[in-house]
Amino acid sequence: MASEALKTDIKFLQGVGSKRAALLYKELNIATFGDMLYTFPYRYIDRTRFYTVSEINADLPYIQLKGKIVRTNVVSGAKQQKRLVLTFADNTGEIELVFFQGLKWIQEKYRMGIEYIVFGKPALYNGEVNLVHPEIELLEEDKGGISITIQGMYSSTEALRNNYIGNKAFVKLMVNLLTALQGKITETLPDYILNQYKLLPLPEALLNIHFPKNSGLLQKAYRRLKFEELFFIQLNVLRQRSERWEKKNGFVFSKVGNYFNTFYINNLPFDLTNAQKRVIREIRRDMGSGKQMNHLLQGDVGSGKTLVALLCMLIAADNGFQSCIMAPTEILATQHYESIIAFLKGMDINVGLLTGSTKKSERKRLVESLLDGNVNILIGTHALIEDMVRFKNLGFVVIDEQHRFGVEQRAKLWTKSDQPPHVLVMTATPIPRTLAMTLYGDLDVSIIDELPPGRKPIQTLWFNDSKRLRVFAFMKEQIKQGRQIYMVYPLIKESEKMDYKDLEDGYESITRAFPPPEYVTTVVHGKMKAADKDFSMKLFATGKAHIMVATSVIEVGVNVQNASVMVIESAERFGLAQLHQLRGRVGRGADQSYCILMSGYKLSNESKKRLELMVQTTDGFEIAEADLKLRGPGDLEGTQQSGLPINLRLTDLGKDGKLLEYVRNIAQTILDDDPLLNREKNLLLRMQLEEAQKKINDFREIG
Ligand code: ADP
Ligand code: MG
Repeated sequence: MASEALKTDIKFLQGVGSKRAALLYKELNIATFGDMLYTFPYRYIDRTRFYTVSEINADLPYIQLKGKIVRTNVVSGAKQQKRLVLTFADNTGEIELVFFQGLKWIQEKYRMGIEYIVFGKPALYNGEVNLVHPEIELLEEDKGGISITIQGMYSSTEALRNNYIGNKAFVKLMVNLLTALQGKITETLPDYILNQYKLLPLPEALLNIHFPKNSGLLQKAYRRLKFEELFFIQLNVLRQRSERWEKKNGFVFSKVGNYFNTFYINNLPFDLTNAQKRVIREIRRDMGSGKQMNHLLQGDVGSGKTLVALLCMLIAADNGFQSCIMAPTEILATQHYESIIAFLKGMDINVGLLTGSTKKSERKRLVESLLDGNVNILIGTHALIEDMVRFKNLGFVVIDEQHRFGVEQRAKLWTKSDQPPHVLVMTATPIPRTLAMTLYGDLDVSIIDELPPGRKPIQTLWFNDSKRLRVFAFMKEQIKQGRQIYMVYPLIKESEKMDYKDLEDGYESITRAFPPPEYVTTVVHGKMKAADKDFSMKLFATGKAHIMVATSVIEVGVNVQNASVMVIESAERFGLAQLHQLRGRVGRGADQSYCILMSGYKLSNESKKRLELMVQTTDGFEIAEADLKLRGPGDLEGTQQSGLPINLRLTDLGKDGKLLEYVRNIAQTILDDDPLLNREKNLLLRMQLEEAQKKINDFREIG
C-alpha cells in the first residue's frame, strides 16, 4: 500500500513546478513523489575526503577540492561557442573549471577570493586535466539541514543539466522531498519479518539510501530495499504455485501404456540420454500427482527436447487424453510435424497440423476430428489458440520456445478444456537460475544438461572483415565436400552511420563470390511473404541451395542436418543469447560443424568479451550466466513477456543470486505456514500482493 503521499504529482514538490516536472518526467520518468523517492543514487562519494589540485588526474572518479577562484576568462571557441574558464587554486596548484552553459549566471554568482568547495569529474581537455561543469558551493553551505558525509550521485542528463538540475540541485529537491514525506512513508513488511531478518524499517532505509549517515547504514539500507524487491516477486510466484497446488485439479496420468511402450520398444531409433530419462521421470511424477503441472524444460539446442515432449504426449494418449504442441513459427511447426510423423511411423496414432496456411476445408475437417477425439496430437502455431479450435479432452500442452509467447497467449490454451491441462514449456535459451526463479518462479524447472552422444562439438572461429577472402575459400571447400552454409546478417536496411553489411549488400557480394549456376544462394528474411519464405526454406532444406543468406529469422528451430557452417556477419551486433541460438542451427549431423563470427576492427570491450566467450565455450548455461553478468540488471530479455511487474532498481540478478535464494526460502517458509496468507500477521503482505496485481491489471488494460 503505497501511501497516498507518494502519489502526489511531482510538480507540487517545493522547487519543482510544472516546467521542471515535465523535464523530470521526460528525462528520468519521475511523475510522482514516489517515483522520485525510488530514484536512487547510482554511486556515492565520500565527502569527507578532499583532494588537492596536485593529486588530480583524469582517471579519478568524482572528487572534491577546496580552494579559491583566482582568474576568470571567457574564451570563444570554434563555431562561436563561448566558454567560461574559472581558474581554481589551492596551495598545491591550479586547475581550470570549464563551463559552456549559463556563463553569465555563473560569472556573477561566484567571486574571486572566496573559499569554495568544487565537486566534479576530472577530464582531459587539450592535454590538460580540468573539470567541466563542476558544482561549486560555499565552504559553509554544507552546514545545517541534512549533513552530508557520503554524497549520493544521481543519474543526470544533458537536458537536466542545461536546465540547472545537476546533482546539487537534485540533492536539494531530494531534501525537500524527504522533508515533505516525513512521517508519511508507510512500512511494507510486517514487524515480525523486520525483526526476524534484521531489516531496517522502510522510512529509515529510504532516508539512508539517499543520505547515508554512515557506510554501515548505507549497506543496511541497500539490503532492506533489495530484500523487498525480491521478496514480493518471490512471494507472488510462490503463492501462485501454492494456489495451484491447493486446488488439486490436475488430470492424473497414472499409467504408462501401449502407445508409450510400443514406441519405446519398436520405434525409438536410439537410446535416450540419461538427462532425457531423468527429465521424463520428473515430468511423469508431476503429471501423476493430481496437481496441475506447470513445467519449464530447459535444454540446449539439439539436446532432444522434442523427443521428451513426444514421449510425454504418448503418456497422455495412454491415459486417454489429447495433447498439442504450439510452436512460434510455421517453419518450426511443420518441422515438428514431419519429424513426429516419422518417429511414429507404423503406429496407430493420429497427428494433425494446424497453421496459418492450413486450407479452410482441411481446417474444418481437423477441427471436427479434434472434437470427436480422433486426433491424438495436434501440432501448430498461434492458430491453435483460435476460438474455433476445440478439443474433446485436451490433457497436455507443450509450448516450444517459450520466450516467443506472451503469458496471455499461454493462458488462452488453458481454456480449451474444463480442467486446466498439464503444461510443458520448452526453451532452448538457457536461463540462469536466478532469472528463471524470477521470471518463471511459479514453474518447476527440469534441465537437460547432456547432448546425445556422437555429436562433434562445433568449432567456433572469429575473424575480422579483412579475412573475408579466406572465409570464402573455406566456404567453397565445404561446399565441395557437399555441405551447406548459413550466412546471417543482423538486419535489413540499418542506419548508414554504422559500418556494417546489410542483407541486400550481403546477398549481392555473395552471389558475386559464389556465382550461379555453379552455386545456388537463397534468401530468407522477416519481411518476406510466408509463401516466398517457405519456398526459399524448402530450396535449402532439400539441398538444392548451397547457401542460405538470412536475417535472424532462422534463429528459431530450423533443422537442416547437412548444413554444417554458420557464418555470422557483424557478429558484434548480436547478443550472446542470439549468437548461441544461431550457432545451434549447425552441428546437427555427423559432420564437423563450424561457426564463423565475422566482425569489424573497432569493437567495444563488451563486444570483444562476447565474441571471445563464444569461441571459448559451447555451453549454453555458461553463456547465459555470462550474458546476465555482462548486461547487468534492468536489461533482461523476456521481462516484458513475463507478466510480472519486475522492477529491480537495486538488485542485480547476475550478482545477487545468494540473496535471491535466501529471500525465496523466507517467502517459502511464510507460505508453508500460511499458504494463502490468511493470517492476521500476514495481512499486510496479502494487501501488497493484491495491490501489485491490480497494478498489473491496470497496466494490461492500458497496454
Ligand atoms: P532440441 O529441440 O532440444 O533443440 P531436438 O529435439 O530437435 O532438439 O533434437 C535434435 C536432434 O537430436 C533430432 O534430430 C533428434 O532426433 C535427435 N535426438 C534426440 N534425442 C536423441 C538421443 N537420445 N540420441 C540421439 N539423437 C537424439
Ligand atoms: Mg527444438
